[in-house]
Amino acid sequence: MLWFFTGAGVFDVSGCLIHQSNTRLFRNKKPAMKFPCTKCGLCCSHVDRSNQTKWLNRGDGACRYLNMDTNLCEIYENRPEICRIDSAYKYFSQKISLANYHKANAEVCNTLQSEHGLPLSKRIIILEKDYSLN
Ligand code: SF4
Ligand code: SF4
Repeated sequence: MLWFFTGAGVFDVSGCLIHQSNTRLFRNKKPAMKFPCTKCGLCCSHVDRSNQTKWLNRGDGACRYLNMDTNLCEIYENRPEICRIDSAYKYFSQKISLANYHKANAEVCNTLQSEHGLPLSKRIIILEKDYSLN
């Protein structure tokens, strides 16, 4: 999922990206890094933390489309754009580099993971060198 922090712990923009891998997207024939989601699923179980995803809240903070048995999105192919980190980057690309955009989102993912005691192996690490071609 994609997140953006504004102010003191308020999630401003959020989007789920379950199933994404650390590969490159191709935009205008230039390879671009894809957000390296580690599929923890915490963004989808905390849609109430963002004004942009509150409408997905089924009542307990989790998204109405999150399958609690599999921890996967039931409408993944048709999920809202707010749930697509890299697709939503076009709304921010004039203001922030892709690397910094990914860093901002990774920071929120990692904060959520820390709050929930997830292992360090799930943390997202953004390396500047991976964005050198952007
Ligand atoms: S790593 Fe971030 S974007 Fe991926 S599922 Fe977890 S909270 Fe969502
Ligand atoms: S629609 Fe799917 S990807 Fe978006 S928050 Fe819900 S479960 Fe996650």
